[in-house]
Amino acid sequence: MDLGKFYKQLAEKQVEPLFRNEPLQKYTTWKIGGPADLLYRPKNFIDCAEVLRLAKQFHVPVTFLGVGSNVLIADEGIRGLVIQTEGWREVSWSGQQVTAGSGILMSTLSRLTAEKGMSGLEFAAGIPGSLGGAVVMNAGAYGCSLAQVIAGVKTLDLAGELREYAPAELELGYRDSIFKKKKELIVETTLSLKPGNSDEIKEAMKEYLNTRRAKQPLDLPSAGSVFKNTAQGAGRLIEGVGAKGWRIGDAQVSEKHANFIVNRGEAKASEVLALIKEVQKAVKQEYQVELKTEVVLLGFEDTGR
Ligand SMILES: Cc1cc2nc3c(=O)[nH]c(=O)nc-3n(C[C@H](O)[C@H](O)[C@H](O)COP(=O)(O)OP(=O)(O)OC[C@H]3O[C@@H](n4cnc5c(N)ncnc54)[C@H](O)[C@@H]3O)c2cc1C
Repeated sequence: MDLGKFYKQLAEKQVEPLFRNEPLQKYTTWKIGGPADLLYRPKNFIDCAEVLRLAKQFHVPVTFLGVGSNVLIADEGIRGLVIQTEGWREVSWSGQQVTAGSGILMSTLSRLTAEKGMSGLEFAAGIPGSLGGAVVMNAGAYGCSLAQVIAGVKTLDLAGELREYAPAELELGYRDSIFKKKKELIVETTLSLKPGNSDEIKEAMKEYLNTRRAKQPLDLPSAGSVFKNTAQGAGRLIEGVGAKGWRIGDAQVSEKHANFIVNRGEAKASEVLALIKEVQKAVKQEYQVELKTEVVLLGFEDTGR
């Protein structure tokens, strides 16, 4: 990696906004994460394509970040370049289809589609992530997921080339997509929705939101469900080993929802990770079930994205 030369090139080309040694905790819902060598928040994909080309030329590793609601970022931070797409929020409409930039929040998109009487995103009302992150994760709730409505995705690959994906090419599964193994930056996504009654859609969203408020510890920083669900229910297994309330430093298994780990103040990524491992060990011992993390680990050794 030739970070110095890469940075010089970006400065010469007046690439902005660009931040050096930027603490990432303020970009995650867990409020955890060390600094990125460089954080770039592109205004448009054309500039971003050029930056990706340069990163490749200077062998600078690239990491993508949405609004950080499903990631655990190491205390040591992330080496190389982090690209955060929160600013890409353009929306366009065509019949029952909506195309939106990857930075738009799922809650905003579901509200906008509800207002237009378009049904299909009710489940996403309380998901605090961006559309880009939701595609990567195939985010879902209440028996629905993004897979049911995706009509197409545009990406930039690591050479800065624009690519297009049809739904069948996305390998969408439970909290899974092709982008878990193929590092590409999601630029925009088209969703195909169904005509519906705006009031009924909004009512369904309200009910989902109420259910969340009743069951989830939304008053404390978290990343939602830490572990992927299992046939027996991850939360039930965690509760079964008595892990609710377990605490390492300021990281605590939520008393309200066993599959959430909350940050009670100044939790470190190392503490969250240690707690994750404790829970996995206890569940394995008691139930012979291996809990797998849903949250994506970034900046840790031997982890991809
Ligand atoms: C309180 C709470 C409740 C939640 N409830 C749910 C729920 O009901 N269902 C659910 O599925 N999830 C839920 N989540 C998790 C999270 O909101 C979703 O997974 C969300 O879709 C992640 O989006 P993000 O923008 O935060 O992505 P990030 O957390 O920023 O990133 C997630 C992954 O996507 C990648 N990524 C992000 N943006 C891009 C991009 N533009 N291009 C390429 N890769 C990208 C990152 O590299 C990372 O691998 C919840 C989280 C919280 C805090």
